Amino acid sequence: MSQYKLETNCLHAGYTPGRGEPCALPICQSTTFKYDTTDEMGQLFDLKAEGYFYTRLQNPTNDAVAAKIAALEGGVGAILTSSGQAANFYAIFNICEAGSHVVAASTIYGGTFNLLSVTFRKLGIDCTFVDTDASEEEIAAAFRPNTRALFAETIANPALVILDIEKFARVAHAHQVLLIVDNTFATPVNCRPFEWGADIVTHSTTKYMDGHGLQVGGAIVDSGNFDWEACKEKYPGLTEPDESYHGIVYTRQFGRNAYITKATSQLMRDLGSIPSPMNCFLLNIGLETLPLRMARHCENAQKAAEFLFAHPKVSSVNFAGLPSDKYHALAQKYLPNGTCGVISFELTGGREAAVRFMDSLKLANIATHVAASKTMVLHPASHTHRQMNDEQLAEAGVSPGMIRLSVGIENIDDIIADLSAALENA
Ligand code: PLP
Repeated sequence: MSQYKLETNCLHAGYTPGRGEPCALPICQSTTFKYDTTDEMGQLFDLKAEGYFYTRLQNPTNDAVAAKIAALEGGVGAILTSSGQAANFYAIFNICEAGSHVVAASTIYGGTFNLLSVTFRKLGIDCTFVDTDASEEEIAAAFRPNTRALFAETIANPALVILDIEKFARVAHAHQVLLIVDNTFATPVNCRPFEWGADIVTHSTTKYMDGHGLQVGGAIVDSGNFDWEACKEKYPGLTEPDESYHGIVYTRQFGRNAYITKATSQLMRDLGSIPSPMNCFLLNIGLETLPLRMARHCENAQKAAEFLFAHPKVSSVNFAGLPSDKYHALAQKYLPNGTCGVISFELTGGREAAVRFMDSLKLANIATHVAASKTMVLHPASHTHRQMNDEQLAEAGVSPGMIRLSVGIENIDDIIADLSAALENA
């Protein structure tokens, strides 16, 4: 499938029906798969033969969708998870253990921030956060001998900071450390981080990839480019025998597929956060139209951002498509066809005006969800950051009047009319 372009792969990669077989991806809603001899199945348990035996490890529907996402990102393999949170947890835990250290960009999604700052710490994995805009020297200063991963988002949620992927890749690789990039908001339609040096890409497929707000899911994709053997002692989980799998050495047996094979056969086996085949089927439907939707999201968001920017009741707009935006130049380099449909903006009237604005919207849904076909809006100070006072909000980079707008694919005239009418009341 790799000879095809992205739009074609969105429809065809991962599943090629044979003669008389269904054109739509079949849903293999089965926990288990039948074999004829004891030895046949034994070979599967030893990872000596390929085949399906239990859906927690592998399932044809899930695998087809994983293969499609791997093709879209230009990776050698992918694994699907039951949520984006699970994807980021697995992506890091696959190469970290108690005593390891991670460096992460401070602007990452709050859920991932908590995962790294609280939950991983309970497991003995420490994290240092760095400013996404920090210099290479400043990022390097956060590295320790036990650092195993550098983590960041292509477009940070909700700060909309654009990552200088090459800068992060240079620092990570100078330390022989893996760069993991969460590419949820950009999607491979707008940016393929492997082309800029990232080693692993993660996704909350809940967002644009699904697009219709139907299923919660995640994905991890491996570029296959990281040379584990060159820094063997840092990644013993991949380069030394896995006692829980009859002493298999993943790098020796699976080469460029070592990382994804370990995530599947060890982490998924033990932790089991798989998506259902039905959810993978739904995700696949979303992937088929992803390029069309992303283009429309970007076009609509550009017009909505320009409208908001010119409005007297709006004091600031964060959207890298605006020439005045701090991240415009980085966006032009890494995301030349558009960033995503998410905008954040501030009203001159502060918190009260934001609430009046939100409550006056008729078309946009007030929802915690983001990056879906329908226009959605959230007031962080009243919702995701509700427990914080104004001082704490400032520390978190969220001002009381800030609104996060996820521009959908409706007719832009209707979206702007809704924003305009609500601003009258703000
Ligand atoms: N990564 C990013 C960039 C996100 O925005 C989110 C959720 O909003 C996640 C990961 C977590 O994904 P999920 O909600 O699918 O668990």
